[in-house]
Amino acid sequence: MDRKAADRLQYLQYFGEFGGVNPSISDSSTYTFLSAKTMFDTFEGNTEGCYLYSRHSSPSNLYLGEAMAALEGTETANVTGSGMGAITATILQLCGAGDELVSSRTIYGGTYAFMKNFLCRFNINTSFVDITDIEAVERSITPKTKMIFCEAVSNPLLEVADIKALAKLAKAHGIPLVVDNTFTPLSIHPIALGADIVIHSLTKFINGSSDCVAGVVCGSTDFCLSLKDVNDGAGMLLGSTLDSLRASSILKNMRTLHVRIKKHSENAQYLAENFEKDGLRVVYPGLSSHPGHELMKSMIVEEFGFGGIMTLDVGSLDKANALMEMMQEKNLGYLAVSLGFYKTLFSAPGSSTSSEISEEEQEEMGLSEGLIRFSIGLDNDIKRTYQQMRECMVALNILKETVSVR
Ligand SMILES: *Cc1c(COP(=O)(O)O)cnc(C)c1O
Repeated sequence: MDRKAADRLQYLQYFGEFGGVNPSISDSSTYTFLSAKTMFDTFEGNTEGCYLYSRHSSPSNLYLGEAMAALEGTETANVTGSGMGAITATILQLCGAGDELVSSRTIYGGTYAFMKNFLCRFNINTSFVDITDIEAVERSITPKTKMIFCEAVSNPLLEVADIKALAKLAKAHGIPLVVDNTFTPLSIHPIALGADIVIHSLTKFINGSSDCVAGVVCGSTDFCLSLKDVNDGAGMLLGSTLDSLRASSILKNMRTLHVRIKKHSENAQYLAENFEKDGLRVVYPGLSSHPGHELMKSMIVEEFGFGGIMTLDVGSLDKANALMEMMQEKNLGYLAVSLGFYKTLFSAPGSSTSSEISEEEQEEMGLSEGLIRFSIGLDNDIKRTYQQMRECMVALNILKETVSVR
């Protein structure tokens, strides 16, 4: 288990161009060369120490990449214009026409739609499996399989992937395990558990201020350079580039990541425990009732907890909608997709972020229409938040009024 990521981040040291405590922001799309020969060499792939064009790399993006590599314990990392930019480039770098990939069936809706509806245009087929069933994963690997994809903790059902077992399986078949770790930065370190490539949507917890979209691929130097290759790199050629100004603001937000993750987890754990005691159907991996609880406990760095995402099933879409509207009215959070904000965000995934998944498939995977996904915020007084959320539930007949002495 890797307990040092937070320290590695803390000890990164940057000096700006004028000795500033923040690195200078690179404000250029293109870069001069003192000799024509160096420009030629750079196009030939010898890019060490040289900047060419900001779609390829820029100082600000490299600084953020360095911080992300420190977070995930990889040799290096490439930042991208969005989480989907990182996911699509990685898949298209690893898979070509006629290849297959094996993926968890409970994943982010956009990733699912890309695999199911888009990759088939290139004759790349995905086997969707129950990622908690290692034998099922193994059965779906064929000689054409080029990668295994999963989320460490899945969206929105919070299934926990056994990264060690999946990594072992991937190694045995000579294919990489790619893990989307968006829900659990600092808590889970997929690389330490054997994964090969880690992806994040930086849009969520890592940036934490819901003011931009961004992504990252953390991996080996070889893989990250291949993504950037000017001739055949999917990152370079698909063009999902992050702007330097954004990269520098995300880097600054990362400095409070350890403090924020602890608070998100602490607050989510409190709400989950209390709503469970109230008899609600709560899914949170920090609860011992969660089927992946023990597994997740064995994977996490304890001080960062089980993460800030929790779901509640209130029975019907009407009730879910009424509750979300009332909670927003009472200023307990926002009815909005996405996650990792300082305020609580809630949405009903069945009709929003996972609407790419057909109703039948949603039902089969346990995604009921009354499900609300909460990204729990950094509330200073979570007990008061709990009481106020509870009052909304009583008012809407989701909970029976009982004298609460907690
Ligand atoms: C949001 C999200 C993505 C997509 O990231 P964008 O930055 O919106 O492109 C991918 N995976 C997970 C788990 C996400 O939550």
